[in-house]
Amino acid sequence: MLSSFIPRGNRGIGLKISALAVLFGSLLGCTTPTTPTRSYEPIARSTPRTTRKQTAPEWRFRPLSWEKLEAIEVWMAGSGRRASNALRMEAELTLARGRLTFATRDRRQLSPATLNARLDSAHAGFSRVLSSPASTAVDRQRAREGQGQVAAQRKQAPKALGIIPRSSWKASSAVPSRLTPNRGAWNRLTVHHSAEYAGLLRTASSSESADAIRSIQRYHVQDKNYGDIAYHFLIDPRGRVFEGRSMRWQGAHAGGNNNVHNIGICLLGDFDRESPSQASLTALEQLVTQLRSKHGISSDRVVGHGELKTTACPGRHLRSWPRSYRGGRGTGGRLAAR
Ligand SMILES: [Zn+2]
Repeated sequence: MLSSFIPRGNRGIGLKISALAVLFGSLLGCTTPTTPTRSYEPIARSTPRTTRKQTAPEWRFRPLSWEKLEAIEVWMAGSGRRASNALRMEAELTLARGRLTFATRDRRQLSPATLNARLDSAHAGFSRVLSSPASTAVDRQRAREGQGQVAAQRKQAPKALGIIPRSSWKASSAVPSRLTPNRGAWNRLTVHHSAEYAGLLRTASSSESADAIRSIQRYHVQDKNYGDIAYHFLIDPRGRVFEGRSMRWQGAHAGGNNNVHNIGICLLGDFDRESPSQASLTALEQLVTQLRSKHGISSDRVVGHGELKTTACPGRHLRSWPRSYRGGRGTGGRLAAR
């Protein structure tokens, strides 16, 4: 009898371990004994605690970090599927609360798209707890509190900026033989105006703005022999953002080597004659902040065309915008406060 080797104090636990070993041994054909078979090997008093530590997932003992959240995801997709209900609910709640914590902590630095993605995944995690038959009343209470906090964060979060794709404004195909592929990371953003009066577009429909953008593309491709519209993004006076030249290609908006790794953004309008609308400035700030976040571009690399070469672009009413953005508004603080 294996139990005869167990020191008196641990005999009850030893019996359980022996029984389990026999059970698993017979089920799995296990060849490795899990209990000592020699009488002179004492079982330490800490055995039960050690056994628990070995079965508890390692992430439980880590402080909150992205690495911990990743470890939980890996565990949930693997050995966690066979874990107890309590552990699986703890994993789901820890993951959702972690994402919510990081969304709240980083909200000033995050693009709206990233912030919303974090809030979405936190909300989805809390929903899984609420709908799971494995959750307890306490788990569900925690999940409901979490969802309340997600909703509070969302109220303050700016909406992710929608970008109207080329297909929606019926762009002509690019001419790759006249284009230069972008190689390496984007590291600058340059602001332009179209230099065409856009006052009439302040109440325009999306398709009227699309007509204006197609005519810029025609001018650039047919008259100037470019491979495509010069800018990567265009913004109309209503604040709609249109995808311009694909980011696969270097732009053709800043002159020669200034185009290297330089994202071009054009506001429709002649800002020597008119002021940019508030809607277009809001969209510009959001787009610039989103692109900076995505490509890791510092705010002091946001410039107006006239800072790279002698030109009136982007017009006297928009000229101060890049400087003001660099001067602090570009930290995202204003966006987050909205
Ligand atoms: Zn320009």
